[in-house]
Amino acid sequence: MADVDSKTKLVVREVACKTILNRSSIDDYSLNCYTGCSHGCAYCYARYMQRFHPHEEPWGAFVDVKTNAVEALDRQLRSARPGEVFVSSACDGWQPIEKERRLTRACCQRLLDCGFRLNVLTKNSLVLRDFDIFDGRPVRVGVTVTTPSDTLRALWEPKADSVENRWDVVRRAHQSGLETSVMLGPLLPFLSDDQRSIEVLLERAGDAGVDVIWFDALNPRPKVWESVHALLQHQFPDLAERYRSVLFAPVVRKAYCEGLHNRVVRIARRLGLGQRLAGCD
Ligand code: SF4
Repeated sequence: MADVDSKTKLVVREVACKTILNRSSIDDYSLNCYTGCSHGCAYCYARYMQRFHPHEEPWGAFVDVKTNAVEALDRQLRSARPGEVFVSSACDGWQPIEKERRLTRACCQRLLDCGFRLNVLTKNSLVLRDFDIFDGRPVRVGVTVTTPSDTLRALWEPKADSVENRWDVVRRAHQSGLETSVMLGPLLPFLSDDQRSIEVLLERAGDAGVDVIWFDALNPRPKVWESVHALLQHQFPDLAERYRSVLFAPVVRKAYCEGLHNRVVRIARRLGLGQRLAGCD
């Protein structure tokens, strides 16, 4: 049974889950209290979830709420070994519906009470609400920023928070004494992967006191190309074929990824941020 939000047209279903704390390739575990994400980013890799949970609605237009998330977690916590939990890997745990449902908050609270560490990554300043339970605990608060331009952000991440609000999240997390991170990615080919954009992004990260900086190229994950291509055709028709090459032509892709990596590393070192780049000297 689905409800449709009269204002946003978001289709919301309540579902039950068997488990909520799952083994992860990123950290020890991942936690996703929702299937689907109303932020609706054009490049979202979590679209692959539709293979396992098919929906009639397009990505970004539905959210399944795992109403028994807290009960499922409590059950798992009786035997789960404490470790680091990535929140969230296949949705944004602080997408707008979390404001009323508060499932991510309740699960984070329980995990911290049971000795787990949290690695938070979001595009929504709603996470500020939960700083009271993060205070003094092993939590790394991170935001994703793919472009310094809020005009581009509005095209590619239409329902996510503004770029400025995301920087505000990490700035305030840092001021609160929490560890912080930023994921600069996917940097948008030919739109936010140029020297100046990268400089601005890294300078902002440095100014906000970010501890760990990740970066990434746009990846050809399943189901991503259709929505990226549709956006390009509509907004940047001249870039559509260049994106296709960067994503799918192996030689072009290799050169592109190497060039991007070298550019980011060079600029980060010049700005004195090389030590903060994850995986780099
Ligand atoms: S915020 Fe993350 S999970 Fe949500 S649509 Fe954007 S990329 Fe996907």
